[in-house]
Amino acid sequence: MADYRQMLISLLFPNKKCLFCGKSSPGGNICIFCAQKLKEANLAYCRPENFTNLQDIFFLAPYESTFRRNLIKYKYGGKKEFAEPLGHLLANLLTKKNLATEVILVPVPIHPNRLAARGYNQAELLATAIGKELNLPVLPHALLRAVDNPSQVKMTRKERYENTKYAFAAGPDAAKIFGKRAIIVDDICTTGATMTACASILKSVAAKEIWGITAASRQGKENNEF
Ligand SMILES: [Zn+2]
Repeated sequence: MADYRQMLISLLFPNKKCLFCGKSSPGGNICIFCAQKLKEANLAYCRPENFTNLQDIFFLAPYESTFRRNLIKYKYGGKKEFAEPLGHLLANLLTKKNLATEVILVPVPIHPNRLAARGYNQAELLATAIGKELNLPVLPHALLRAVDNPSQVKMTRKERYENTKYAFAAGPDAAKIFGKRAIIVDDICTTGATMTACASILKSVAAKEIWGITAASRQGKENNEF
């Protein structure tokens, strides 16, 4: 009988865990405590070195602890299903920042070799989830990944900027950005090098305003109480 009850409970409430703290969260991918923290967080942003083309980069939480482990699973471990809850939270963030209308979402592209190996672009899935929720256009081919860069994990800030400088190019849909507000979407902002490189391409095709949004950031921890 107990087993039956247990089975029923797990059917009704699949064993979901909070993406941010890892604790059991029957209601969804974020527990009530983390949801509250996120609500109260200081609308965090990170400030990349070369900030001329970007208005701001907003993110949900620092890239650390459980959230970091989950984002690694999302990117490398095939956990595509995280795109939807993360996209939902990012959509809320854009709404809070008055960026939920009259914007075009531009996911950071990955090189075709990586796309073939991984099977999906984690940034594009996030952009698609946000776009679906806010009814915003998504342009996955506005930018192209021209170079299959080596992994940046062990690189210094300076090396990352050098590494990404020529990594991107305008894609076949770049002209659609002309005169528009664009939001670059990525999973993680580490030094801001990728965002900066993408922003300079969008600037070159005359985007009116360029913003960035990521799930996590290594920058600006001090700006966020989360
Ligand atoms: Zn939590």
